[in-house]
Order: sequence, then C-alpha cells, then structure tokens
Amino acid sequence: DKDLILAIQIVPFDSTRKLLISRDITQLEKVQTVHRDFVANVSHELRTPLTVIGGFLETLLDLDEPAPGIVRKYMDLMLSQTKRMQRIVEDLLTLSRLENHQNSLRIEPINVPALLQSILSEAQGLSAGRHEVTLTIQTEHWVLGSRDELHSAFANLVSNAIRYTPEGGRITLSWRIEHRQGVFQVSDTGIGIEPQHIPRLTERFYRVDKGRARDTGGTGLGLAIVKHILLRHDAKLDITSTPGEGSHFTIYFPTESLTPSAQKNIAADA
Ligand code: ADP
Repeated sequence: DKDLILAIQIVPFDSTRKLLISRDITQLEKVQTVHRDFVANVSHELRTPLTVIGGFLETLLDLDEPAPGIVRKYMDLMLSQTKRMQRIVEDLLTLSRLENHQNSLRIEPINVPALLQSILSEAQGLSAGRHEVTLTIQTEHWVLGSRDELHSAFANLVSNAIRYTPEGGRITLSWRIEHRQGVFQVSDTGIGIEPQHIPRLTERFYRVDKGRARDTGGTGLGLAIVKHILLRHDAKLDITSTPGEGSHFTIYFPTESLTPSAQKNIAADA
C-alpha cells in the first residue's frame, strides 16, 4: 500500500537482543495533515481581512486632514471586514463546540413544520424580494433532535441557496416522508456546482469559487457545520446539482430519528 506510513522503533529486549517494533501511523499522519491544513486555512482566512483593515488605517493616518466622506467610506469598509472576521470566528466556535460535545446532544421532539415556517420567514427576509421562496409541507411528522442545531443546519442550506441563486430565481423548501425517512429538501435555480466539487463541499473552507463565496458573505464553514450537526442526528446529506441550472440539498432522517408517534404512523401506513 503506497499510502501506508510505518513508524519503526528499535528497543532493547534483553542484554543481547533488540526488538524491532513497527506501528502503522497512517491515520495519525492523516489527522496531523488535516490539522496543519486547518491552521493554515484559518490563518489565511483571518489574515486577508486584517491586511485590508491595516491598509485602510495606514492610509487614514497618512492623510493630514482627511475629508469626512473619505473617513466614513474607509470606516464602512473596515466594518465589513471586521464583520467577516466575526462570522469566521463564530463559525469556528460553533464547529469546535459540535466536535467537543459529541455526547451532550439535548434531544427533544422537534415540530419540523413549525420550524420550517420560521425558516421560510427568515429566508424571505434574507432574499428581500429578489427570489421566489416557497415551502411545501407534505407531512406533519416531527423528528427527535436539537432545536438549535437543526435550525442552524436547515438555515445554512437555505441561506446558501439564496446566496448562490441570482435575482429572479426560485428557492423551494419541502418536508416529506419517503421510504420511511423524513426528508427535508432545499432546491434552487442558482449557479449550480460542477460534479467534481460535490464530494468536497463539506470540508472546512472548501469553496468552488473563493472570490464569489466571500463576496456573498460566506465563511466556507457552513456545510462543514451542517455535516457535523447531521452526524449527531444520524441524518445524511445528499447533494445533486446541474451547473447553470441549480442544486438540490437533501437531508434524510432515518425512521429512528422520527418521534415515536411518527414511527408508529409510518409503520401503519406501510
Ligand atoms: P460558503 O460560506 O463559502 O458558502 P459553505 O460551506 O456553506 O461555504 O459552502 C461551500 C461551497 O459550496 C460554497 O463556497 C459554494 O461554492 C458551494 N455551494 C454551497 N451551496 C451552494 C448552492 N446552493 N449552489 C451553488 N453552490 C453552493
């Protein structure tokens, strides 16, 4: 196996003999590489706005008596860079909380239709009339999970759909039961994604088009957060897309993640 990495150690066994110990550290090496990449990415993501802010501050200090209009313009630009750093740090904290509290998920019955109604209102606010945003509830069934986390996972997918769909596009949210699973789907008529990118979208800071993603206010951490949340709910994310036509992001909740009454109902229907 060309990817196998072994650590070899020679240790004394007795007065005359030595023992050769080899350990497979492939996994450890991989974890360390991921960690190194992550630190490099975080540093890079924060360095860019810091450089911009530093540049504006220097320019302002160099001006003897800057016109109020100029000061205001630079302040606005610095504020938007500061907000970007805040979003990155918030998302990093969310990710680290999700990773560190693996077992402390507070499970409660979640009224998905009601949750989606509030997500629909948020989405309409975010879109500000630029898209047609609709919600179809095909089942009233609930799931077991964490309200905050599911809200965050659904809202992330919806805000992506809005951010990657040009004005005049359609965003469709739906909740249904399919093959005894709870299915939440967000479809958009946006820019779409080339197939080779799809498997990597949930990696931290992975973006198809860095410039575009930044311009839309993205941190590159949204789908990584979604992935972690779904992992804790035994749910799965499926992504299908056609470049230039749009994308479907679908979450599947297994039967066991539905409330007991929903499970009973589905069993009776089957
Ligand atoms: P970002 O903050 O950059 O949006 P995400 O983790 O939420 O980060 O998404 C990762 C990348 O996946 C995005 O940068 C974008 O390239 C792509 N993406 C996510 N959702 C969509 C979508 N609905 N349509 C097209 N591309 C998308």
